[in-house]
Amino acid sequence: MSIQSFHPPVRTLMGPGPSDVNPRILEAMSRPTVGHLDPVFVALMDEMKDLLRYAFRTKNDLTMPVSAPGSAGMEMCFVNLVEPGDKVIVCQNGVFGGRMKENVERCGGTAVMVEDDWGRAVDAEKVEAALKANPDAKILAFVHAETSTGAISDAKTLAELARANDCLVIADTVTSLAGSPLLVDEWQLDAVYSGTQKCLSCVPGLSPVTFSQKAVDTVTSRKTRVQSWFLDLNLVLGYWGGGGKRTYHHTAPVNTLYGLHEALVILQEEGIENSWARHQKNHEALRAGFEAMGLEFVVPEGERLPQLNAVSIPDGVDEAAVRSALLSSYNLEIGAGLGAMAGKIWRVGLMGFASNETNVLFCLGALDAVLSGMRAPINSGVAVDAARAVYR
Ligand SMILES: *Cc1c(COP(=O)(O)O)cnc(C)c1O
Repeated sequence: MSIQSFHPPVRTLMGPGPSDVNPRILEAMSRPTVGHLDPVFVALMDEMKDLLRYAFRTKNDLTMPVSAPGSAGMEMCFVNLVEPGDKVIVCQNGVFGGRMKENVERCGGTAVMVEDDWGRAVDAEKVEAALKANPDAKILAFVHAETSTGAISDAKTLAELARANDCLVIADTVTSLAGSPLLVDEWQLDAVYSGTQKCLSCVPGLSPVTFSQKAVDTVTSRKTRVQSWFLDLNLVLGYWGGGGKRTYHHTAPVNTLYGLHEALVILQEEGIENSWARHQKNHEALRAGFEAMGLEFVVPEGERLPQLNAVSIPDGVDEAAVRSALLSSYNLEIGAGLGAMAGKIWRVGLMGFASNETNVLFCLGALDAVLSGMRAPINSGVAVDAARAVYR
């Protein structure tokens, strides 16, 4: 065998995640591995829970990272809260709401779907009607920031409606955490999951979650056993729970957790409100550039995610060829459309560390060059200046 060490190229990641990882995080991850029950590691776990509470804006005791990607955080929420026969109202306005439905059904529950057009926020009136029509519903589940379309939904209002109808709330905040205002306690969200590779700019592979006392009570009073051993909160708590007594559940991904710890320290240094404002500012500059170029946003104003910009593809342009030119000539990754949006849009992420002025100007300049080279029907040579004007 003569396979050599792997040396990836240095890309600029402006797709739907993973986003560019702050070098401080990669450096933190290269520190010596300690045992996952070592007292110094246990101290790091406690700090991590405090840092996550800061990021989620919660006092929830049960706040921790699941040792697996965002999809596992999603599954942890559903397998613990949904028992066979339970009715769950699931909002779908993109790819990820569809996965929620799948989760409910695999738990033996019934999903009552509230469907909205892809590219729109979840319609609160439809949710209210579904809650009224299904007084026996136990949970309302929705995606706060739909990464497949770039739409943000009004989590506060949706949670109020759920509460008025005595429902628990499961919220997907994989792309919103640290990028858009997310106030878990103030909005009273019960089971919330996120990811590390979007606006926290950490490596992929962990899923921060937080559960309200009401959610914990629901789990501990289940009539049936949680069907997943790995994700059963009753067992995970023995490892991540308070009291300082940690029992072996699984081997924590020690070095990845160093990375998340560093990502959260960086967030704390910046201040979460500043992080939200930075994402908004860079979105406005990118938007000015796209609009000057003649690209149209998929999502109407007022429902747009600053960290995920979905735009239409100019007529006659081979969208995959553009992405591959950006990757090969500029080491720049942008995202393709997903599901029903495949082939119809590009998704340009401005997440976490990647959300900065340099990247906005670089992306607009590179896209302008590639599209102009293809003689695409755009306004050439104006995008970068339009974005710069926003920063001035
Ligand atoms: C990325 C994403 C997920 C899945 O996270 P993975 O880490 O890829 O498993 C779930 N929901 C939303 C909204 C996402 O953007």
